[in-house]
Amino acid sequence: MTNKIKHDEFYFEVDKVNHELREMIDFYSKYGRAKLDVKYEGKIYCSICKQAPLNINFGPKRKGLSVLQQNQSKHLDGCSKAVEEANKKETNQFYSESELDKSHINKRLELLIHSLFNSKKLLLRKRIRKILKLS
Ligand SMILES: [Zn+2]
Repeated sequence: MTNKIKHDEFYFEVDKVNHELREMIDFYSKYGRAKLDVKYEGKIYCSICKQAPLNINFGPKRKGLSVLQQNQSKHLDGCSKAVEEANKKETNQFYSESELDKSHINKRLELLIHSLFNSKKLLLRKRIRKILKLS
């Protein structure tokens, strides 16, 4: 199983730097899948935390990299590529809890909107503060 988090870059443990997915696609079109696997398989990791192994999903239509479900926990704490997954889990939990009658749902939605609004406000305040400091 894969997820929707995009990995446009990858960490290559051979030369210990990040590379763009583009490079891998170029390599693939020149040399094919077998050589691609020899060069990269098991040697590429999340470009942010360099801990979670990346899976090569290359086919005729789609060329991408992803972290397999069972490797999601290998991201370092706070890795931005892992955050979205955690949020998805939280969202699922949010909706899957039992005894969701209508008023319950409404209350939860209200809370959600409220928290979204507050986080936006906070961002806005931070931005304003930045602008004031610059002027
Ligand atoms: Zn990561």
